[in-house]
Amino acid sequence: MIEDKFLPVCEPSLLGNEAKYVSDAVSTGWISSSGKYVQAFETSFANYCKVEYAVGVCNGTVAIHLALRALDIGPGDEVIIPSFTMISTAFAICYTGAMPVFVDCLPDTWNMDPDAFRKKITSKTKAVIPVHIMGLMCDMDAISNIASEYGIKVIEDAAEAHGAEYKGKRSGSLSEISCFSFFANKNLSTGEGGMCLTHKPELFDKLRYFKNLCFPLDAAREYIHQDIGFNYRLSNLHAAVGLAQVEKADEYKKMRSHNNMLYRKFLKEVSGIQFQKDSDSIYGHVHWMNSIIVDKTKFGKNRDELMAYLKENQIDSRKLFAGMHRQPSLKKYGCDMSGDYAATDFLSENGLYLPSTSNLKEAQIARVSDTIFNFANIKVS
Ligand SMILES: *Cc1c(COP(=O)(O)O)cnc(C)c1O
Repeated sequence: MIEDKFLPVCEPSLLGNEAKYVSDAVSTGWISSSGKYVQAFETSFANYCKVEYAVGVCNGTVAIHLALRALDIGPGDEVIIPSFTMISTAFAICYTGAMPVFVDCLPDTWNMDPDAFRKKITSKTKAVIPVHIMGLMCDMDAISNIASEYGIKVIEDAAEAHGAEYKGKRSGSLSEISCFSFFANKNLSTGEGGMCLTHKPELFDKLRYFKNLCFPLDAAREYIHQDIGFNYRLSNLHAAVGLAQVEKADEYKKMRSHNNMLYRKFLKEVSGIQFQKDSDSIYGHVHWMNSIIVDKTKFGKNRDELMAYLKENQIDSRKLFAGMHRQPSLKKYGCDMSGDYAATDFLSENGLYLPSTSNLKEAQIARVSDTIFNFANIKVS
């Protein structure tokens, strides 16, 4: 019975043409990055995000590195990122030799605080990378206005926000270059995969150039390379899965939001359980991971105790990200770890995410919620 099974925190939902397209790729022999699915996936995802140009790459981390390289960011430069993000945002900056600089998040949206961003700008700041955390859109107008005031490039890390909208515009369409991940747990997945989007043809060319070892774009293959490039190519097999995923993107988005609505409904009566701010008419939310904050004084137990209890009851969960200012790797690299990141620390210490697979059943969400109820010793009325 499904209710008794171990409930993983997230599995890919492959409910459409994935197997059909992959077996087509295999049976025709097109398994490298030269097959037709790469372009089909790029075009369909670009259309979905309402952006002109797309460059598929092999994961989301390198998508961010590629975007930074295409914008000529390197040693001596500073790039501002939220402290509350996944490590990839910071590491991609380190790959270029530039320095990541952290900004605390807002306690309600968990997204980068635009006022704190302004305070971190120096003469070395070349770019800012807002991250639409957990699928909730950042305040893109505020961030873009400050950035243009100082001549700073904006790169969206939209790895958690496929299809989210801000003032009716899609995530990934609101910056110079945007970056997506299609890792197994993301709202759309190719297993491993990523993409850069841009409105600008000259950036499109640079992205394609650096992605493919700096082979000249339109010349015959001469094996003469003017710059140091990367092999960040996406395979046709992964792209075949990706095309099928984009065909059902709206369905997956609806499922994720429906699941989040159910969690909010079922957990409403539990005191001491808080959620991230939900979508409103301006800020869309595509609910990547169903995240909650445990307030020990009201809930009676802390986050780690709740996670252990969930595990005993065959339910997997994960802690929210640890802040960038807490990463030994970034300290060793030379980042400034000082400063006030109270909102990030609060989330890292008290937050977790619950099972979030797109096609979860209502009964499974009820089971998770009931388990949380029981642990808090609160009776459902
Ligand atoms: C998942 C994720 C990435 C990296 O994606 P990978 O495909 O795993 O390399 C980057 N940024 C954020 C915010 C993410 O959540």
